[in-house]
Amino acid sequence: MDFDRERDAELEFKTSKSVQVVSSFEEMELKDDLLKGIYGYGFEAPSAIQSRAIMQIISGRDTIAQAQSGTGKTATFSIGMLEVIDSKNRETQALVLSPTRELAIQIQNVIKALGDYMNVQCHACIGGTNVGSDIKALSKGQHIVSGTPGRVLDMIKRRNLNTRNVKMLILDEADELLSKGFKEQIYDIYRQLPAGTQVVVVSATLPKDVLEMTSKFTTDPVKILVKRDELTLEGIKQYFIAVEKEDWKFDTLCDLYDSLTITQAVIFCNTKKKVDWLSDKMKESNFTVVAMHGDMKQDERDQIMNDFRLGNSRVLISTDVWARGIDVQQVSLVINYDLPNDRENYIHRIGRSGRFGRKGVAINFVTNEDVQPLHDIEQYYSTQIDEMPVNINDMM
Ligand code: ADP
Repeated sequence: MDFDRERDAELEFKTSKSVQVVSSFEEMELKDDLLKGIYGYGFEAPSAIQSRAIMQIISGRDTIAQAQSGTGKTATFSIGMLEVIDSKNRETQALVLSPTRELAIQIQNVIKALGDYMNVQCHACIGGTNVGSDIKALSKGQHIVSGTPGRVLDMIKRRNLNTRNVKMLILDEADELLSKGFKEQIYDIYRQLPAGTQVVVVSATLPKDVLEMTSKFTTDPVKILVKRDELTLEGIKQYFIAVEKEDWKFDTLCDLYDSLTITQAVIFCNTKKKVDWLSDKMKESNFTVVAMHGDMKQDERDQIMNDFRLGNSRVLISTDVWARGIDVQQVSLVINYDLPNDRENYIHRIGRSGRFGRKGVAINFVTNEDVQPLHDIEQYYSTQIDEMPVNINDMM
């Protein structure tokens, strides 16, 4: 027992030595139609994670790919996946799972855009939508399915999603998918896939217990990892405002409103109820805000997402349903109205700004009780969170 514990403590996870850097898309020798799609989408050169992980995925090896938020992980697995699927075969060959419906849709759109010249069918299989239309779409034949675990499992069990030809399983935001709420469903889906299905594990945060868990469904995976103290991005400046008491947060937010609307901003609260409360209160005070959380109907969520992506709304109040993966390049400010309850989501939340090298600002509202937890976050990631200066508008 003690021996086991000692050995576990020694078990260090490191980037595999065999990982090579391929510094251009041409050198990857991708299919012409795919290369055309990549350039058509506006990419010129691969990012750090793309230049390391795409070829590993194409090689067929199980891959654990970690990289900071907004550095191009979605395109990493999408390009790898598009290269290996056979578009002449209309059966489902790759399955991408992610924790939120909005993320599954976003991934579907990236795959469709990159695969624009490949004649590839990609379906978003998500909860909150009409089951009948899901079944219909699947029956037409989809090369790739991007979905949330519940609906995907349901479609597999009903035999509307045939997994016989699945070659690759992608777990995006894998640490979230392997957390309590989803883990059983993920294992259930995994068990329905053919033996030897390639597994790709992706996230900005991969705590040790999650890395340990991956041994249950990966074989000799190649690992590309980021050390904890290298996880925060230089481009995202982090600040706190000492609000002392909960009651003072609201006025502080109102004072900041003009800064929020310079580009686009996301405000995080820890509960759905608080999101509703805050958005009502802001509206009562004549501030324009929108709100989104998991208890809203899917068509309402879709509409809020579309408006925000188009820039029609500029200030969004949300829960952690928005913490991971969502890519809206114009977001330059994130406010933690409430400090997140877990350290991983701190990284994900602030990573909604500063996409792909852009500048971003994160502001944490801290009550007296939050002082220590914020300090813990600062230490955990070896980062710096300063008191907010007066001139934040210049930093975005
Ligand atoms: P992650 O999944 O790592 O958080 P995304 O895959 O969402 O990041 O990418 C963040 C943004 O960077 C997206 O808007 C994406 O289009 C853009 N991007 C990704 N790769 C490249 C690239 N090679 N060149 C230019 N932009 C890129």
